[in-house]
Amino acid sequence: MSTPRLRFAPSPTGYFHVGNLRTAIFAWLTARQSGGKFCLRIEDTDRERLVLDSIRAILESLSWIGMDLDEGPSLEELKKAGYSCEGVKDMGGDHGPYIQSLRLPRYKEVAELLVEKGYAYRCDCTPERLEEERAAQMARKVPPGYSGYCRDRDVPKDKPHVIRFKIPHGEKIILNDLVRGEIVWENPALRDTVILKSDGFPTYHLASVCDDHDMGITHVFRGEEWIPTTPIHIKEYEALGWEMPQIGHMPQVLGDSGKKLSKREGAVSVDSFREGGYLPEALFNFLALIGWSPGEGEEQEVFTQKELIERFSVKKINKAGGVFSYDKLGWMNGMHIRRLSIEELAKRVKPFLENAGLKVDDKILLEITPHIQERMTVLTEALGLVSFLFVDKIEHELKSMFAKGIDAPKAIEILQMGKQLLNELPTFDVASVEATIRGMVGKFTYPMGAIFMVMRIGVTGKKVTPPLFESIAILGKEKSLHRIDQAIEKLANA
Ligand code: GLU
Repeated sequence: MSTPRLRFAPSPTGYFHVGNLRTAIFAWLTARQSGGKFCLRIEDTDRERLVLDSIRAILESLSWIGMDLDEGPSLEELKKAGYSCEGVKDMGGDHGPYIQSLRLPRYKEVAELLVEKGYAYRCDCTPERLEEERAAQMARKVPPGYSGYCRDRDVPKDKPHVIRFKIPHGEKIILNDLVRGEIVWENPALRDTVILKSDGFPTYHLASVCDDHDMGITHVFRGEEWIPTTPIHIKEYEALGWEMPQIGHMPQVLGDSGKKLSKREGAVSVDSFREGGYLPEALFNFLALIGWSPGEGEEQEVFTQKELIERFSVKKINKAGGVFSYDKLGWMNGMHIRRLSIEELAKRVKPFLENAGLKVDDKILLEITPHIQERMTVLTEALGLVSFLFVDKIEHELKSMFAKGIDAPKAIEILQMGKQLLNELPTFDVASVEATIRGMVGKFTYPMGAIFMVMRIGVTGKKVTPPLFESIAILGKEKSLHRIDQAIEKLANA
């Protein structure tokens, strides 16, 4: 068997959607497990919907999530096609160009070949004529669509025209889909389709077939919304005498409601997950399990990329769509956070702190990281948990002290004792801080939780923090005492 060649063929028309990423993940896993190639092709023939910067976002996201590419647009191609390529890795390959807008002569050549062979024809119907035809069909209550008016008109080359592919009528068309098995179209009601537009740009039907062939693609993985286009593509392969790649239509990524994913449910760009503090390994793992599972009775859900490469199987891709659930993603992200080494987790957390304007001390961050590792679902939560260590001035959530019988005078009393005892400590480490604060409990009639809360807010300013004794010990004596002083002063003046 020849080396499998798979491709990811996004259209740079806006943000990089998780549904497209999931389909790319299945293709990438298949390529990696079979020793095949994974290629990126930019399908930029829809000039009206083009968003110039989206190619860079796609490349960055693929690299962030750890999906390496074997072939794809070179920097020169990107530049030539007018895309920004700052910070983008140079790629290229033997089957370029990998950007469709740079392949126009080839599409023209193939379209002309189809005309020559009698499988396609020039059509010069004006939009007005097409509209009239449509209105008449509607009036007759027949499904609207091109009538084939130009099929036998022999429209000359020098008149503005499109090229249409002739769809044979009354023919049964069969696809052996990698995911869905046999799909049969009994006499599909298809109309002659435009494959080359009057501006020289191809439509998806021509560009996709032509490129998959020219790039030696052996397996086409694409979203199920493309199923209806397949009969056209099958007939094109036949007309051109080209071997057809195997095609698999991937199940949809659905929202919680079981319907199309909405923004609230996760239809946001892949980079927004990075910004939201999700780990690439978690997003990858989570998406790989949407529409695929390693097997019945398998309970393991947290996988490394390497494990997924080993376990993935196209045969186990489901026909039915899979649900994108933020709860599940959050759970999985937490699981992956706990799998990181302390050094690695500190490294991942640091940019989130710095982006929020904190001046991070690496040593302190390393000390506190083990104490937040269990407490985070997303990396962005680190900011709220550890910022007290990296700022000069804190706000005190004083009101949260006032529970379980505590009021301002009582809180001052507790803080004053805490300050005095902590100040007397010869060594300021977790054990001595713990012994001191636990020792305070017997000296008051208030419950332990209330005393701890007053001390927690006194030192860190916040109600939710890493463990209390560790937080105080890592902050250090001088700063801890200073913050207690500030809290006392604020309480006294409140
Ligand atoms: N450019 C198409 C898209 O972004 C690709 C479909 C395909 O994979 O053939 O949906």
